[in-house]
Formats: sequence, structure tokens, C-alpha cells
Amino acid sequence: FKARVKNIDAEDEISELLTIYNDMMRRMEVTFEQQKHFVEDASHELRTPVQIIEGHLNLLNRWGKDDPEVLEESLKASLFEVNRMKKLVQEMLDLSRAEQVSNTAELQITNLNEAVEQVKRNFEILHDDFNITYDYNPDIVLRSLILRNHLEQILIILFDNAVKYSNGLSEINITLEQIGNRAVIKVKDHGVGIDPSELDKVFNRFYRVDKARTREVGGNGLGLAIAKQLVVSYKGTISADSVVGEGTTVSVSLPIMEEEVIQTARKKPLK
Ligand code: ADP
Repeated sequence: FKARVKNIDAEDEISELLTIYNDMMRRMEVTFEQQKHFVEDASHELRTPVQIIEGHLNLLNRWGKDDPEVLEESLKASLFEVNRMKKLVQEMLDLSRAEQVSNTAELQITNLNEAVEQVKRNFEILHDDFNITYDYNPDIVLRSLILRNHLEQILIILFDNAVKYSNGLSEINITLEQIGNRAVIKVKDHGVGIDPSELDKVFNRFYRVDKARTREVGGNGLGLAIAKQLVVSYKGTISADSVVGEGTTVSVSLPIMEEEVIQTARKKPLK
């Protein structure tokens, strides 16, 4: 990717084309570098569970056949690592798919009030020890051009984190409101919090604030990267606010689809 044209001075069409060509090359270099980093990071992440499983298989081979304690312990640990790997591979796939989202590919107008409520309800069933509140104005239906599946995926990542890093304080507050021409969804927890110096980095791939602790809760550092990739694909934004020891609020903003635009698009009245 080093094929760039130097010294473009003239202001004719050829020079213009060469400038576009150089720009294209520069972008390809960046993409190539990013992909290279991703493969390096992914290999590193996958190597750890493989090494642990290998260690346990060796233990089993040497002592496990005769020692039921070693057998039990090593099987349990290996299964744990296999599950981690399965999750990691799924998340890598999700990230790659999130990169390919294009607004023109599939068009779906999602009722945000309803979608958030649905995910919240499903989550309550899974985590009945958590008190989850949801505040929104039922008189104003907020809609956005986003695949419902994708919105659910984003919310699940945020709810999952709120649970994983809750530190025993099992309360989560969700809000949905309109700010200008955007819908803003906030997921607030009262858990461990994130240091201000780490706030931006948590959206980077494979980034974990506390590797040991995150490993215990089964995190691979890809959740927020997937959420960000999806949100950005729908021209939205995502950010985090946090106070260490008090909790974290993650905010997602998405462009609102105005009713008139929806009606024109559908060419029939909304129910
Ligand atoms: P993971 O699957 O490891 O949780 P994420 O990309 O979702 O990956 O998050 C990246 C890191 O940011 C986490 O490992 C954790 O350290 C931190 N983090 C994310 N959400 C929260 C939260 N709600 N409270 C505290 N820390 C969080």
C-alpha cells in the first residue's frame, strides 16, 4: 500500500484524480493496519484459553486418570475456558458483522419505547435479584431507523455490563428521552465505576480496565466495541460517565425518525 503519487501541483483533472487516488490509498493503509492489529489482538486473546486447556489436559494425562479431584477440577476449568472461547469467537463475529452494517442494506423503523421495554422485561426474568427501573414518556413514541435486532444487541451489552460490574448493588436505571432530534437511552448502574482516564478506552477492542476481575466475570473487552460500531453505523453516538465506587452511566443517542418522514416512506398512515 505504499503506491502513492508525489508532487501533485497542477490544478487540472488528472491532479484531482491523483489526489483522490492518494486519499484512497491512505484509507486502505489505515484499514490494513487496523485489521492487522485486530488479528494480533484476537490471536493473543485466543491463545490464553488454549494454553490453560492444554495445561489441564496435561494434568489429566498425568494424574487425572487416578485422582478424581484432579479429574473434576481440570474438567471444570477446561469447560469454563471452552465457554469463554466460544463467547469470544461469537463476539468477534458480531464485531465483524457490526462493521458491515449499512443503512441502505435493510431498512427498519424501530419503536424505541417498546424495544427498550421488551429487553428490560427479558432481562428482569434472567436477573430477578435486580431492581430495574425504566423511565420514559409513554405519550411520545420515539422511533429510529435501526434494525430492532441491533438495538437489542446494544442494550443487552449495556445491561450485561451493568450486571457484571454491579459490585453487589443490584439496581439499574434506564431512561429514554428526546433531546433535540435525537433519542437518548441511558443505562445507569451503581457498581464499581470506571476511572476518568479509562472512560474513552473502554470502547476500544479488547480493552478491559481490570483484566483479572473482568476475566472472573467472563468479559473479553469486546462488548462496548460492538455496541459502538453498531451505534456509529446508525449515525448515533455512545459515551460513558462514571464515578469510581458510585457507578456508571452509558448514554446512546440515535437520530429520531420524524412521523412525517415515516409516513412518506411507508406511504400509508401509522396505526
Ligand atoms: P467486557 O466484555 O470485558 O465487559 P466491554 O467492552 O463491554 O467488555 O467493556 C470493557 C471494559 O470496560 C470492561 O472490561 C470493564 O472493565 C469496563 N466496563 C464496562 N462497562 C462497565 C460498567 N458498567 N461499570 C464498570 N466498568 C465497566
